[in-house]
Amino acid sequence: MAEWARRQEAAIAAGTWIDPTDAETTLGEYRERWRKTKIADAVSIDKTDSHWRTHIEPVWAGHPLGLITRPDLKAWVKTMATEQCRRCYGKPGVDRHGMLRAHTTKLAGAALLKAQRAGESTTRRCSGSGIEAGLGAWTIQGIMAHVSGLLTAAVDDGFIPVNPAVRLDLPPARPKPPFFWHDAEIDKIVAELEDGHQPGRGLQHARRAATW
Ligand SMILES: [Zn+2]
Repeated sequence: MAEWARRQEAAIAAGTWIDPTDAETTLGEYRERWRKTKIADAVSIDKTDSHWRTHIEPVWAGHPLGLITRPDLKAWVKTMATEQCRRCYGKPGVDRHGMLRAHTTKLAGAALLKAQRAGESTTRRCSGSGIEAGLGAWTIQGIMAHVSGLLTAAVDDGFIPVNPAVRLDLPPARPKPPFFWHDAEIDKIVAELEDGHQPGRGLQHARRAATW
């Protein structure tokens, strides 16, 4: 206790003291405030909202800002990169080759309504079964950029003294290699299209570019 009091006093003297009630604000509560005052274009807002709802909120919304630790964030990044299904975001476990075990997923949206009306099961075998586990590097980078942005804003607003999400090791997001159709594939597509349709100008251009 003496040590705690000493550190509080040192923090007050250094100007880094945070009122404990500020650090108890949850990430979900903080994000609501942040969202109200955030100035950004609609596309960026949509993207961060989607990352929040799908990936961040279910795990972190109820965490007090002061209790989000760097080791917890590291463990979460590793889970996303090595265990999660990129179709349903479930964690069915992986086999010894790193492939997702067979698992089911709950239907949502229109598919759920349709199944309910037909009295059918509302779960299906997830098409992510058997593929490599882990979310894509770009997705993880996007998710962590949003988490880190929120925590930096919380530091600036005086809720927490430091951002625990800076300079975390993330899977490297490399640009995708350019995509080309092979000649045989182009011939097949053209043949399909010519079967009743004239190939459009765009396709002829694509053919010329791709056979270059
Ligand atoms: Zn799945």
